Amino acid sequence: MDLSDTHEEAAFRNQAREWLRANAPKGLVDRGFSLPIDDESIKILTDWQRRLHEAGYLGLSWPVEYGGQGKTIVEDAIFNEELARSRAPGPLNLLGLSMGGPTILEHGAEEQKKRFLKTILTCEEIWCQGFSEPASGSDLAALQTRAVIKGDEFIVNGQKVWTSLGHIADWCMLLVRTDSDAPKHRGISYLLVDMHSSGITVQPLKQMTGEAEFNQMFFDDVHVPRENLLGPLNGGWGVAITTLMNERATLSLATVARFRNTFEDLAELARKVTREGTCTLDSRVIRQTLAQFYVEVESMKYLAYRNFSRLKRGGTPGPEGSISKVLWSELKQRMNEFALVLQGPRAALNEPHAVDGGRWQYALMRSRGNTIEEGTSEIQRSIIAERLLGLPKGY
Ligand SMILES: Cc1cc2nc3c(=O)[nH]c(=O)nc-3n(C[C@H](O)[C@H](O)[C@H](O)COP(=O)(O)OP(=O)(O)OC[C@H]3O[C@@H](n4cnc5c(N)ncnc54)[C@H](O)[C@@H]3O)c2cc1C
Repeated sequence: MDLSDTHEEAAFRNQAREWLRANAPKGLVDRGFSLPIDDESIKILTDWQRRLHEAGYLGLSWPVEYGGQGKTIVEDAIFNEELARSRAPGPLNLLGLSMGGPTILEHGAEEQKKRFLKTILTCEEIWCQGFSEPASGSDLAALQTRAVIKGDEFIVNGQKVWTSLGHIADWCMLLVRTDSDAPKHRGISYLLVDMHSSGITVQPLKQMTGEAEFNQMFFDDVHVPRENLLGPLNGGWGVAITTLMNERATLSLATVARFRNTFEDLAELARKVTREGTCTLDSRVIRQTLAQFYVEVESMKYLAYRNFSRLKRGGTPGPEGSISKVLWSELKQRMNEFALVLQGPRAALNEPHAVDGGRWQYALMRSRGNTIEEGTSEIQRSIIAERLLGLPKGY
């Protein structure tokens, strides 16, 4: 498949690049896969997403009747790639755009699509993902949060944990158990829950970076209208798989662009850091390590092209996303570790004395979470083994 831009695609890319140059918010840079937590950044990013939508750069492949642009995933991929390349921050409502929206588009009733999709794009309603629980993360289907039907409502009781953006979310993609007697994958339902409902308590959890990007959430007799069931009753597992596949598959060309930026910054760091009076880049070992990173970023690019060409032919995100996930999350850790190796004893300094304002130290700590969130590396490897290589089930 020829993945070079057509004349129209090249024009769209240039137009997007120019627009980003003129409009990206100043002073806030792309923080990769970490989310903002302070009020000021949240305000700036809400406004940024609104402007992205008004300029016609969000929901590029979503249907026009739900607030999208009615274009294809090609324009979507081009814009996300340019956004990452420009180092501008991504839209705030990341979980709504990459997971909630695509899941509602695939499984939602017409009224649900009309009700929820547009406000995801405009950032008027922020979404979070209430899947994980204290006793069910990797084994998600073991979840215990219960919903009982009473009249026209579900009554929800239970606890969720590690909920990114739960503290500012308006809506939650919530997995609940609606049939305790059925086999565990068959008794789950997928609810769209208003986070302002009474009975929901959200408590921030601090990460090793010192920030509280995610939360634990308690549901005590929370009333959810029956019309907020997404997909069939007790058929929520299939709906959840759509969310998970989109979580692992989206933005892969943009991810490559981000890694190119990191690679360039790492090479620049090697150029400017000296050890005993000589530039670290003079060391053969350092140069070879950098070359290896370059090879891995390039191989990520071709993997992204392969996944993308599958989607372009009309496929849906599948288990191939697990390969990209393992590759980028582990590469990110190794690149950031290497940045600290380059700094030598100075790696131990805190902001404002740290090299590059401490961005490498921050990124290394944040990257620990990358091999856990969206399914751990062990789980991704099991998916690759079983679903792509056809090996026997390991557990
Ligand atoms: C930064 C961050 C953001 C997150 N955001 C969200 C969010 O918004 N919403 C949400 O619902 N969740 C979120 N999560 C939770 C995340 O999905 C879970 O942490 C993850 O699925 C792992 O589950 P667990 O923490 O319960 O670990 P466990 O499942 O208890 O795993 C513990 C260890 O055992 C290993 N292990 C478990 N089972 C197996 C097996 N069968 N084979 C081999 N090894 C195994 C795991 O790989 C891991 O190393 C987030 C997590 C992080 C770190």
